[in-house]
Amino acid sequence: IFTAVEMAPRDPILGLNEQYAADTNPNKVNLGVGVYYDDNGKLPLLECVKAAEADMMKAPSARGYLPIDGIAAYDNAVKGLVFGADSEPVKSGRVATIQAIGGTGGLKVGADFLKKVNPDAKVLISDPSWENHRALFTNAGFNVEAYPYYDAEKRGVNFDGMLEALGSAASGTIVVLHACCHNPTGYDLTPDQWDQVIGVVRAKHLVPFLDMAYQGFGYGIAEDGAVIGKFVAAGLSFFVSTSFSKSFSLYGERVGALSVLCADKDEAARVLSQLKIAIRTNYSNPPIHGGAVVAAVLGDPARRAVWEKELAEMRERIKAMRHKLVDGLKAAGVQRDMSFITQQIGMFSYSGLTKDQMVTLRNEYGVYGTDTGRMCVAALNSKNIDYVCQSIAKVLS
Ligand code: PMP
Repeated sequence: IFTAVEMAPRDPILGLNEQYAADTNPNKVNLGVGVYYDDNGKLPLLECVKAAEADMMKAPSARGYLPIDGIAAYDNAVKGLVFGADSEPVKSGRVATIQAIGGTGGLKVGADFLKKVNPDAKVLISDPSWENHRALFTNAGFNVEAYPYYDAEKRGVNFDGMLEALGSAASGTIVVLHACCHNPTGYDLTPDQWDQVIGVVRAKHLVPFLDMAYQGFGYGIAEDGAVIGKFVAAGLSFFVSTSFSKSFSLYGERVGALSVLCADKDEAARVLSQLKIAIRTNYSNPPIHGGAVVAAVLGDPARRAVWEKELAEMRERIKAMRHKLVDGLKAAGVQRDMSFITQQIGMFSYSGLTKDQMVTLRNEYGVYGTDTGRMCVAALNSKNIDYVCQSIAKVLS
């Protein structure tokens, strides 16, 4: 029965990891995958997580099934984080939130639900976007196209192109937007540009799906969440997927969520019932541990303060690395102006290097980024930065 099965292509990013693992270069540096490492090159275990887990170990509990939509305290904490605990949408009960298996799971549950509600809708993602957006919505049965986003020449957002594409989309088109820290480019919309996007979304009756995988990595938790407030103020219904993979350094626990802002409480109850069907028929109910940890941290003011401090440290270290990278490239003899790296935000930098240059960087120097020129700045540290700068300088010379 499997004779006709073809070999699927390797995942472009996770495939790089495999190549990196097999590389014998002692100086190798992995800037491919979007993971935050501390200055010692180690994946951090946050103190807030350690403390919450230590408490859980003091009173171990049996593991029954969770409700289909997950831990109630977790879902409430997500609502608070995304919309504000005292916000009108949360207080009026018109947000439907489910615990999801990572941000990816939130996107997938949302996509499956949307396919039922509006099966003929087209999905628009940014060009470029996180690699999995296209595949995920395609596999959910949608026709996926892209709206212009990155302007390579200008090094920024092709905002006119984006607005024009959204303006000519059919009513009901699902538009996937990166809420903050655009992956892979590192270029976000300005508040004024968001207002214009919201205007088009409203005028054209588009369905916004905000992907929030990096809340807190841009300017701060509230600052990065401000875009949600803009959509609320515009009176729109929309989707938000949340990921705690990076902000809690809980990648492997698969902690995420999907929130759907509805017109009223009754609508939210109906939407939630449908989200539960999507979950039940995919994986039945979510796992306990990661959600319990995040709920324990977000639900305890002292612990939450520790988390906010640790998140700020990650954010600030990435920013410091951006500056070190720009300075280091200059010191290593790179002639071209690389200062745009400090204008980008979040974990990534679209470096402007070509595919050939990225391949040389990988094969000759053991510095791994994606073929698109994307490098994970969050994997740079005081020990590898000089080597990375010198390697890039050699490739560019
Ligand atoms: N969306 C974007 C834009 C991402 O960068 C990522 C993670 N790389 C995700 C979603 C998925 O997050 P998770 O690992 O929590 O599934």
